[in-house]
Amino acid sequence: MKIIVSIKQVPDTSGKVAVNPDGTLNRASMQTITNPDDMNALEAALKVKDATGCKVIVVTMGPAPAAGMLREALAMGADEAYLVSAREFGGSDTYATSQILAAAINTIGVEKDDVVMCGRQAIDGDTAQVGPQIAEKLHLPQVTYAADIQKDGDTITVKRMLEDGYMTIKVQTPCLITCIKELNEPRYMSVGGVFEAYSKPLTTFDYNSLKDDPLIDATTIGLKGSPTNIFKSFTPPQKGAGQMLEGADKATCEKLAGILVSKHII
Ligand SMILES: Cc1cc2nc3c(=O)[nH]c(=O)nc-3n(C[C@H](O)[C@H](O)[C@H](O)COP(=O)(O)OP(=O)(O)OC[C@H]3O[C@@H](n4cnc5c(N)ncnc54)[C@H](O)[C@@H]3O)c2cc1C
Repeated sequence: MKIIVSIKQVPDTSGKVAVNPDGTLNRASMQTITNPDDMNALEAALKVKDATGCKVIVVTMGPAPAAGMLREALAMGADEAYLVSAREFGGSDTYATSQILAAAINTIGVEKDDVVMCGRQAIDGDTAQVGPQIAEKLHLPQVTYAADIQKDGDTITVKRMLEDGYMTIKVQTPCLITCIKELNEPRYMSVGGVFEAYSKPLTTFDYNSLKDDPLIDATTIGLKGSPTNIFKSFTPPQKGAGQMLEGADKATCEKLAGILVSKHII
């Protein structure tokens, strides 16, 4: 059994967010991190590895520096890493991104016992489309929003988080699961793990490595092949400071009601 975890390098938006004059993110000037939900997916995979000894493979599509993020995943305990990187892939929207990642995962190989894991959502693109799209392209059953995962033979029981409760689903391998932060607390890299990370295999898939995969269509990848076009992007105006009313007495409540009525909220 192996678990392939798709992880994305994203700008660290907890610090200062730099925006270009045209409204796009100035990625070059920002620190990068592994997308938070993807850390939960990796931790879930490593827990299965701890229990069963299975192999954990991490894969990312991104520029060359994303190799550093893959080394961190290897230091946490992953066994192998793949960096999918080529000029032809640049500017891909979610449709093209999932096509390229599906081809990479297909090339690595998905067998009967295997599981593909993704985060639910990337904190920069924010669409939550890539995981489900990879599943569609690989013809795998998918379970999204996993808050708990239990493996029993070739059946996996997933507790899905919904807005107002949970749904429990049994799915057979091979399958794809998208993970959320409620699933676990990601581990830290160990010192030994950091040393080991540099002797673990990290393979780069360029365009030539994937171009013969049946899932790759040269006309539907990269900026030109992406069906989504961004016509305009902008930073929304900041909200005002708001108004605070102190106290729970009748006069304050009447004042609050008056404000809400004047704003047509009630
Ligand atoms: C026209 C257009 C041009 C774009 N150009 C660029 C660009 O030049 N550079 C850029 O960074 N973005 C670009 N984007 C954004 C890019 O399409 C998305 O960031 C990307 O497709 C992933 O979508 P998402 O971030 O919404 O991921 P989500 O669907 O929210 O991600 C869900 C999960 O899928 C997996 N995943 C997503 N992306 C990757 C990845 N790259 N590698 C591994 N796993 C992944 C992760 O597990 C993640 O948690 C562009 C978008 C459009 C529409």
